Amino acid sequence: MISHARRRILQWAAAMPFLPACTSPPPAQPAATEARAFRRCRPGDPAWPSAASWARLNQAVGGHLIKVQSPWAACAPAPDGASCTDLFRELKNPYYIGDHVGLTQTSGWVDAWTSTPSIYAVAARGVDDVVAAVNFARDNELRLVIKGGGHSYQGTSNAADSLLIWTRAMRAITLHDAFVGRGCAGKVAAQPAVSVGAGAIWMHVYDAVTTQGGRYVQGGGCATVGVAGLIQSGGFGSFSKNYGMAAAALLEAEIVTASGAVQIANACTNPELFWGIKGGGGGSLGVVTRVTLKTHALPDYFGAVFATIRAASDGAYRRLIAQFVRFYRDSLFNPHWGESVSFSPDNTLRIGMVFQGLTQSQATAVWQPFFDWLGAAGQDFQLASEPVIVSVPAQHFWDPDYLRKLPGAVLADDRPGASPGNVFWAGNLGEAGWFLHGYQSVWLPASLLDPEQQRRLSEALFASSRRWRMALHFNKGLAGAPADAVAAARETATNPAVLDAFALAITAGEGPPAFPGIAGHEPDLVAARDDAAAIDRAMKALLPLVARPGSYISESNYFDSAWSASFWGSNYPRLRRVKETYDPDGLFFVHHGVGSEEWSDDGFTRVPSA
Ligand SMILES: Cc1cc2nc3c(=O)[nH]c(=O)nc-3n(C[C@H](O)[C@H](O)[C@H](O)COP(=O)(O)OP(=O)(O)OC[C@H]3O[C@@H](n4cnc5c(N)ncnc54)[C@H](O)[C@@H]3O)c2cc1C
Repeated sequence: MISHARRRILQWAAAMPFLPACTSPPPAQPAATEARAFRRCRPGDPAWPSAASWARLNQAVGGHLIKVQSPWAACAPAPDGASCTDLFRELKNPYYIGDHVGLTQTSGWVDAWTSTPSIYAVAARGVDDVVAAVNFARDNELRLVIKGGGHSYQGTSNAADSLLIWTRAMRAITLHDAFVGRGCAGKVAAQPAVSVGAGAIWMHVYDAVTTQGGRYVQGGGCATVGVAGLIQSGGFGSFSKNYGMAAAALLEAEIVTASGAVQIANACTNPELFWGIKGGGGGSLGVVTRVTLKTHALPDYFGAVFATIRAASDGAYRRLIAQFVRFYRDSLFNPHWGESVSFSPDNTLRIGMVFQGLTQSQATAVWQPFFDWLGAAGQDFQLASEPVIVSVPAQHFWDPDYLRKLPGAVLADDRPGASPGNVFWAGNLGEAGWFLHGYQSVWLPASLLDPEQQRRLSEALFASSRRWRMALHFNKGLAGAPADAVAAARETATNPAVLDAFALAITAGEGPPAFPGIAGHEPDLVAARDDAAAIDRAMKALLPLVARPGSYISESNYFDSAWSASFWGSNYPRLRRVKETYDPDGLFFVHHGVGSEEWSDDGFTRVPSA
């Protein structure tokens, strides 16, 4: 909550016709007449750091300050040239994007944001580099951005005229047999865990923990997502219906807060900061430099079920949806099953589910009644091909060598000299570099699966599918999960709606990588806006099912005006208190992040809150 003194300052500032550019920060308890610091510096402002200042920062970070060149500089004048063609080809390689200081995994979102490189970046090698960058940004009133894996859909890891802290090089991974957080000895039992540098991506963590260590750690489904970004989002992986949210597995974090202090946050030390970074969203409370996550015993097998079913008529499609909802409730609504299905305007049901803790034959037996029902329905339904039910030894599920031999499972980083461990799910190819037209999500309460509610649910799914493709991600809702996974999620900042949700419904649309001003690669704005309107209508068809819509911060609508209620629900006031404690002057800003209502959309100007 905003203090009375601060509110007075903000009101006073709002009344000013003109504010001097990037003045020094106000003291902790300023008198109203002293209030000055309401606009951050941009290049060209008199107070923008001098070349000598930047040189000192460069020295402080061991020469790892980068003057960022726009990746598009060579492209704009010669869009058909070889370097531009190569660049757009590389935008389908998430490892290339991840290794580029000036790129993000999403190229933009229509009418929302366009990926824009920072002016300077600190390619941090360790916590000392992060401290130096935080101090420099704070003292010089710069717009600060943090990028790890670069997968933010909301564009929160890039900003024009900013200083970037880029954690890509901080990716050490250490397994522990018996971890106890600092200050927790005698209070919290030692447990197996893994410590991971903030810039690591999940594929490399899974390879270390599962392939090499024979353990399980809860991370994201997409293998190239960054560790620190996902943990702070809440974070769901394919098997979260059993193991819970990734943030809930956090045992400890090292985090540099706005004062430049290196804080340890765990259940015993800085517990409120610890709670806040578990789901409070990346980029709002500080720079996480290392996380330590609980690990679990591995099951014997992980597996997947794929099928695509086309209904011959709208009537048949309604029956198919109703049958699937019934089948899900009776047979799949338990910790064994995760991932998603989608419903589309062409009357197609696409099934891409995963399982853990079952053998292939047990999984086949689970699905038999559903496929028997389809077979008995004759001409009404057509399978695109034979359903696929596969399983692999769990230890190989993220084993790059094993996966490379499975046809169609993964794609590899094809740059010369790339690490053999650089693979990604083939299913994530479309998302590399894409340009978003729309993206919305809502948690669906498990009560909708009750027999008397199922008809409402399936009719709403049908209505929604008339507008746009609607997917149900079962692993992103915790209803049906074990009690300990639900209890741990309750101790995060994520909207409690996740606890009672059987699925997160997601509707989204996109085009290929696109950038304004680059001929032949510009976004198709007309098509994009049409798609956005259809996506909006698809979501509106579902919303009457939910009394208080909640949405997953990382996979949500950029334009959601009720964002704080959507992402955090009743947890938001507590998050604001954490923000006030650790970043009272708002050094850390992201679009629709905690405390962002005090800032202009671009994060440069502090504005009074309503
Ligand atoms: C293709 C794709 C697939 C996805 N799949 C999943 C999925 O399976 N499950 C899921 O839960 N989510 C998924 N997401 C969403 C993803 O988890 C979030 O966007 C996450 O925040 C990305 O983290 P990042 O480090 O890759 O991204 P970034 O864009 O680098 O960071 C995301 C946010 O976190 C902040 N941040 C990054 N590093 C730090 C740090 N060290 N300290 C403080 N703040 C930091 C950034 O400033 C930014 O605000 C997916 C996104 C994409 C694009």
